Amino acid sequence: MNCRVCKKKAVIAIPRHNTAFCADCFDKYLMDQVRKTIKEFRMFSPDDRILLAVSGGKDSLALWDILTRLELDVLGYHLDLGISEYSKESTEKTRLFAEKRGYRLIVEEIESETGATLPVIAESTKRPPCSACGLSKRHLFNRAARQYDCQVLATGHNMDDEASRLLGNILHWQDGYLEKQFPALPAEGGLIRKVKPLNRLTEKEMAAYAYLNGIDYVIRECPMSADAKQIFYKKILNDIEKESPGTKQFFYFGFLERSQKMFPLSKETSPPSENCKMCHEPCYTDICSFCRLKMKLSPFPESSETEDTPITFITPNIS
Ligand code: SF4
Ligand code: ZN
Repeated sequence: MNCRVCKKKAVIAIPRHNTAFCADCFDKYLMDQVRKTIKEFRMFSPDDRILLAVSGGKDSLALWDILTRLELDVLGYHLDLGISEYSKESTEKTRLFAEKRGYRLIVEEIESETGATLPVIAESTKRPPCSACGLSKRHLFNRAARQYDCQVLATGHNMDDEASRLLGNILHWQDGYLEKQFPALPAEGGLIRKVKPLNRLTEKEMAAYAYLNGIDYVIRECPMSADAKQIFYKKILNDIEKESPGTKQFFYFGFLERSQKMFPLSKETSPPSENCKMCHEPCYTDICSFCRLKMKLSPFPESSETEDTPITFITPNIS
């Protein structure tokens, strides 16, 4: 199989585009796809500082590399969830990646923030682990964005993630989630603007980018992931894709085209009029959901107010 562009030996086939690329032409293709997404969804303004959520997996580390190559101002943020060996490996790989490339990284620990690791939080509060994790990440990402003067939060969700999530949301007609399934969401309700620049690229393409660029990432899945359905939906879409290349992209982008009519983004939501009485982050009630989660872990919290967050390390210094 040869590269469709330069006829050198191909390293990857992309059946949905009926094409194949050598390493150099694949790199150009992938960078073009990300540039196109950023432009189409107006993800960044020239002066934006981007807070990038980095898990240590292939997508977020590759996105860090790509956004840096595009000369954007990126600050990595990794939350150590305290999930035994998995978190140790994730934090270590993220830290090594940043150090090697001289990228700026903030690492915070859920245990320093709440007094408990994610498995203990889930167990003590009887909340599904992913729900406690999502709630904590939302709060801590937003707080870090304010602390480090970032205007937008980027995540490494790829097309497979988005298409399988879409399938699940449609099968259960989760209107509230469908409304939020856009790759660029404006700031609302005290939450920072959010973008997903990899939504045009598949899992396989991101793994190929990581491999070709020597990115050492965490391969195993998070052991707390109870979302077997998400994996099942990915498998179904991959089976359909095998029979009919291009269907996954058509399904997901077909939704995005229609979703702008169904759920116009211009809809304004009023910003929170209050600040949490405990952490002073913006919220709609007296006490934000993150502080309520912490109270469930420790019903009589010390009046800690807003002590500075303990930050494990930052590489190198952030200006
Ligand atoms: Fe958090 Fe769940 Fe993802 Fe694990 S699988 S990182 S617990 S959201
Ligand atoms: Zn709070």
